[in-house]
Amino acid sequence: MRDMVFAVRDEMAGAYPELKESADRVARVVEAEERQFARVLEIGARQLQSAMQDGSLSGEKAFHLYETFGLPLDFMMDAARDAGIHFDLEGFERSRAEEQARARASWKGGAKQSASPAFRELPKTAFEGYKQLKVEGAEVLAIVKDGKGVPSANAGDAVEVVLDHTSFYADSGGQVGDVGWLYSDDHNSVVADVSGCTKPVQGIFAHRAILRQPLAVGDKVDTVVDANYRSATRRNHTGTHLLHAALREVLGKHVKQAGSLVDPTRLRFDFSHFTSVADEELQDIEDLINKEVLKNIRVETLEDVPIDVAINEYHAMALFGEKYGEKVRVVRIGDFSTELCGGTHTGATGEIGVVKLMGEGSVSSGVRRLEAVTGLGALNEFRRDFAVAQLASQLAPSAEVAPAEALRARLAAQDEELKKLRRELDQARMKSAASAVSGAADQAVEVKGVKVLAQRVDALDRGQMRTLVDNLRNKLGSGVVVLGSADSEGKVALIVGVTKDLTGKVQAGKVVGQIARLVGGSGGGRPDMAEAGGKDASQLDAALKSAEKVVAELVA
Ligand SMILES: [Zn+2]
Repeated sequence: MRDMVFAVRDEMAGAYPELKESADRVARVVEAEERQFARVLEIGARQLQSAMQDGSLSGEKAFHLYETFGLPLDFMMDAARDAGIHFDLEGFERSRAEEQARARASWKGGAKQSASPAFRELPKTAFEGYKQLKVEGAEVLAIVKDGKGVPSANAGDAVEVVLDHTSFYADSGGQVGDVGWLYSDDHNSVVADVSGCTKPVQGIFAHRAILRQPLAVGDKVDTVVDANYRSATRRNHTGTHLLHAALREVLGKHVKQAGSLVDPTRLRFDFSHFTSVADEELQDIEDLINKEVLKNIRVETLEDVPIDVAINEYHAMALFGEKYGEKVRVVRIGDFSTELCGGTHTGATGEIGVVKLMGEGSVSSGVRRLEAVTGLGALNEFRRDFAVAQLASQLAPSAEVAPAEALRARLAAQDEELKKLRRELDQARMKSAASAVSGAADQAVEVKGVKVLAQRVDALDRGQMRTLVDNLRNKLGSGVVVLGSADSEGKVALIVGVTKDLTGKVQAGKVVGQIARLVGGSGGGRPDMAEAGGKDASQLDAALKSAEKVVAELVA
């Protein structure tokens, strides 16, 4: 394919001189496209092979592969024919129709069924909010309170208000409705605070409002949209279109929108893709979007475009499963993005400021989700990052490398240092305990002809205690060694060692069991070596002291 580009250039450069300059770039794009498609085919074909292993391929399964891996229909039909398997085209189409119905239901939110009857039979609301944030003299056509139409409502009431025309955008196409205020007919006072706007019935805009003044059907009001809220939402919506186009450019044309949410704080975009998006890909996508932002391209909206013109001439991206009318609205951002869309957008891409991707994850099999912030939201994120970077450079000052890199190196070095110190500390403890107890062999007490040595060694762990018991046993030659320790949390460890010659008379397990009882614990082990734990460190000294008595009883 790549070589074709140059063949075309050589053939056509006479008539189209710009081909000479763009051929290299076009070849690169073609190559990337080919690679991407090969990757799709490779992963998808493997899935297809394993799906056909039992000698059949249901239409449902085939549709899943089509949806998830972007495997072309004709490719699957060919593969099935080659394998001598019947391709269930009917089942495939049925699955596709079901998916479309599902997508429609989830996008419309099933609002129609739950809509109050009060919303039906009303004339459609005229939406004038694309061009202005405020309209004057809107007539109140209906007030709905607790799901029922009422002729009037009082200050403090939570209601939904339907007007003959409005500047409020209502929830749709993933973009949340506007917030703002309804003003009195004389423009002087706020009648209601509007916290959102929805379309309970197609074409009817319901303003969710708390009244500050009484309101009656037939009253006139001004609708005033919160400009900051709308601007932030517009930035995120136009950012969503840029993201959609960038995803298709970087990841491949199999990327299809599977859902989106646009509000003033962020944008969320779900799309079909078979694997997670790599960090380098995310950066490419982010770079590409922001380049388009910096070009400050005009965002054109074309109203009432015949659907076939939008799709075939403008190549507008339509939402899978969405049903469009004869005339559609097209939002075009240069030649980078063209979509069918009813949302509100910035006048030019530069208004977005900057787009920062925030996170990528999985929603369901074959569907990924990206979140991003724009404008002031992005600024806030950068401020937070900057604060972290400053902290990092304070903790690990470095002129040569980035703060994060310096901090990482610093932490690794400290980790190494800590390990080394721990080893040294262990050795020092062992040494000091050994020397403290080295003279202790002399402190052994004779009980009925058996040497008994009981010592407290708080700083040692169990392994070190075991070693020490061995050493002391050897030193005594014949006798019983009892070591006890308590840690900072009050946990007690006891170890008893008995030289082999005595195990007939004194068993280590019996000794440790009796002593451990005093510190609220229990234990056991071999006749020559036994261990126990306990919970009451305050009784450890008394427990060690009791060792003589315990041995005396056993010997007798
Ligand atoms: Zn849109």
